[in-house]
Amino acid sequence: MTDYPDTALHIDGHWRQGAHKRTLAVHNPATGAVIGQVACAETTDLEEAAQAAERGFAVWRGTSAFARYKVMRQAAQLLRERVETVAHLMTLEQGKPLAEARMEVLAGADTIDWFSEEGRRAYGRVIPARQSDVYQLVIQEPVGPVAAFTPWNFPINQIVRKLASALAAGCSIVVKAPEETPASPAELIRVFIDAGVPPGSVNLVYGDPAHISSYLIAHPSIRKMSFTGSTAVGKQLASLAGLHMKRMTMELGGHAPVVVFNDADVALAAKTMVASKFRNAGQVCVSPTRFLVQEEVFHEFVEQFILHTQQLQVGNGLDARVQMGPLANPRRVAAMEDMVADAQLHGAQIKTGGHAAGAAGNFWTPTVITGLPSTAHAMTQEPFGPLALINPFASFDDAVREANRLPFGLAAYAWTRSARTAQRIAAAVETGMITINHLGLGTPETPFGGIKDSGYGSEGGSEALQAYMNPKFVSQAGLL
Ligand code: NAD
Repeated sequence: MTDYPDTALHIDGHWRQGAHKRTLAVHNPATGAVIGQVACAETTDLEEAAQAAERGFAVWRGTSAFARYKVMRQAAQLLRERVETVAHLMTLEQGKPLAEARMEVLAGADTIDWFSEEGRRAYGRVIPARQSDVYQLVIQEPVGPVAAFTPWNFPINQIVRKLASALAAGCSIVVKAPEETPASPAELIRVFIDAGVPPGSVNLVYGDPAHISSYLIAHPSIRKMSFTGSTAVGKQLASLAGLHMKRMTMELGGHAPVVVFNDADVALAAKTMVASKFRNAGQVCVSPTRFLVQEEVFHEFVEQFILHTQQLQVGNGLDARVQMGPLANPRRVAAMEDMVADAQLHGAQIKTGGHAAGAAGNFWTPTVITGLPSTAHAMTQEPFGPLALINPFASFDDAVREANRLPFGLAAYAWTRSARTAQRIAAAVETGMITINHLGLGTPETPFGGIKDSGYGSEGGSEALQAYMNPKFVSQAGLL
């Protein structure tokens, strides 16, 4: 028995099944058991969702920024009140420890609050004209109905950034949420419905991701798309969006370097980065992955990193003592097996972990690998799992060369006591975000996004709101 509900679509103000009443099974990654079903949208449902979003847009864009802010603040409040229920669902379907799920839900409420406020400050500007009786205005207008596609690693966080910035800008939205973790995102949608968004302004679908994205991106009612997921899929969707001249935000894969210099606080770096590496079992786009440690402190760092890693409690996320849950699906376990086997073939040393665990569920032991050549799979593909790869470096230039070797450029980390080194490494690494001597990424008020193959556009800060608005230039002469 489980207290996990089946998940419905939400189209034009109604919770309902898809046209063919098709469903997909949802599994608990800690046990492998089927815990529920999620409804699948057919083409007719997608058409209804797109049309509903067009009607919902007309109503929502006509709602004042102040009234929109009040609805959004109410949604945030409802999400806080429901934190225990929603976090429980998230742990059941995704596997992460309950404490992480709670944090994600509460951070989601903070994100809604921040964007709701920011929507009230989406100022245009007045540009001095070349004639005295002319006013030149820049007005910010919402882009229109948005299609958003989000993955299973952060069922709420991945949606809430897109949803809150779209709604704050005055856009309507059709969300294609993850089929593998559908119930907690549906609760996110529910708080907006309960807070009083107009019918059609927020729609939720699940089903065949490729069919849904190709239908919605091409649909004339949809004016912008936002995708979070792998670089491979992101490139396909970007080309489709380009074909149909749709605006887009792409938050794709990463392979974050962590540069630890000789003068770093090694103990703090090791402790902090272990917590960060194994959060959500490493299934995080900004997860620290390639640890580059300067030769003098290499052994000290590896030793301390292993010590903290071995202390992690792995198990079912519903157990309050657990710090790392299972991987979210069996595909990730297979990927870890392949990467570790390949690392061994490349002569690397598995310092701890390196194998599956538990009689049931997708458990993998937190893994530390050293001596991995850059040709190994894990050093070129995003592991997206609990693998820490640690190699030594000699000079600043060596570290930068390795940090910039891959086509990814999402997040980077550095540890040093030197202000000059901090400044130089921040300038030298090709990345969308870098955090030095602490963990400082991901608040709603700061930019969040990558460069190179990690995508483009921001999902945080005022830049995120701009991504959902078109500037309109109005030049108006006085009638004399
Ligand atoms: P995947 O690439 O098939 O799917 C990733 C996500 O994209 C899923 O949510 C999936 O439903 C969605 N997706 C896939 N094809 C799509 C399409 N044509 N249109 C719309 N959405 C589509 O692989 P996966 O096994 O689910 O995840 C593995 C890889 O995906 C990871 O190794 C990682 O690189 C990447 N990923 C990244 C993030 C992130 O936060 N950036 C999150 C999850 C997965």
